[in-house]
Amino acid sequence: MTEAIRADDHPTRPGGAARAPAVRITALTKDYTSRKSGTVRALDAAELAIAEGEFFTLLGPSGSGKTTLLRLIAGFEHPTAGRIDLAGRDVTALPPHRRDVHTVFQDYALFPHLTVEQNVAYALTVRGVRKAERLARAREALATVRLDDHARRRPAQLSGGQRQRVALARALIDRPALLLLDEPLAALDRRLRHELQGELSRVQRETGVTFLLVTHDQEEALTLSDRLAVLDHGRLVQTGPPKDLYEHPATAFVAAFLGTTNLLGGDTAVRLTGHPGTYSLRPERLRIAAPGTPDATPRPGERTVPGRITGIAHAGAHTRLTVRPDPDGTELTVLRLNTTALPDTARPGALVHLLWHTDDARRLPD
Ligand code: ADP
Ligand code: MG
Repeated sequence: MTEAIRADDHPTRPGGAARAPAVRITALTKDYTSRKSGTVRALDAAELAIAEGEFFTLLGPSGSGKTTLLRLIAGFEHPTAGRIDLAGRDVTALPPHRRDVHTVFQDYALFPHLTVEQNVAYALTVRGVRKAERLARAREALATVRLDDHARRRPAQLSGGQRQRVALARALIDRPALLLLDEPLAALDRRLRHELQGELSRVQRETGVTFLLVTHDQEEALTLSDRLAVLDHGRLVQTGPPKDLYEHPATAFVAAFLGTTNLLGGDTAVRLTGHPGTYSLRPERLRIAAPGTPDATPRPGERTVPGRITGIAHAGAHTRLTVRPDPDGTELTVLRLNTTALPDTARPGALVHLLWHTDDARRLPD
């Protein structure tokens, strides 16, 4: 199910006229043909509108068509069919340099023989901007990413995170209308990735530039984006704010890709929900209680089934348990926040009650 937004869903000035979206994609399709694998449809009739100033994320597994969509928007690839408008202008036939777009890649693509400030000023050098102005603006861009004290170093003297900040400063120096970021943090370790995520968010807010970020990291997509779109095999399957997609996934793929979920189907669905169909029930919406305790009594709107604990993994702040409601049926994952210690009686083999609110078992299309 593709859900395109209209430009006037996002008026950018309070009380003022709605502007054309920063990006509008219409029925965009891309086929690659090679002798080895024949024709591959990398993007299939994609529809999308991104508002000016939005932090928008494309989320999908490897091979789902994310890079293809970015390259089409940047103009490095030509679509098989469809149309691309940037800020209300049809750019489908225009070369990359005629589009007001910059791209940040995963591998930084910095010039090793140039200093940090020369790298950042590169676009201005090409355009013939005078040296004094070039350097002043490079310093300003470096201050935006908090690297002004590293201006004279060369890329080899920087950490991976710092190099990516340089790449970001370079891409922002002439304030493009749109910045495309293709998995810019994928090569960084977890701690640095978190730090740079905060940095991306801050820089986007401070500059107001429209960001289109590509990632396969669901947590990154959920925490950074105003809205996101999920790509599955070249199809945009759902678009919306992170919370909407997480709470109301349109497909089993979206439910499972955005976090962890219990997918209920067949007899398990009937047993647990009372109805046939396919359901998504998030682990954090399930709770367990020992039989005979007050917590084992369902609260209003809750359903309950007995089950046996099959596994317990303590992870500090939370515990991840698996519980089997049927002797030979599906195993469910339960996420328990350890605001109080888990009783010692909760161990593999123990009988428990599983409880959840009926609204939390979300019906998915069949
Ligand atoms: P992602 O960035 O989500 O990993 P891509 O856009 O790189 O996905 O690739 C989408 C699909 O298109 C994949 O099946 C990939 O193998 C194929 N593809 C990408 N680029 C080319 C190309 N230049 N030639 C042939 N096939 C390609
Ligand atoms: Mg890619």
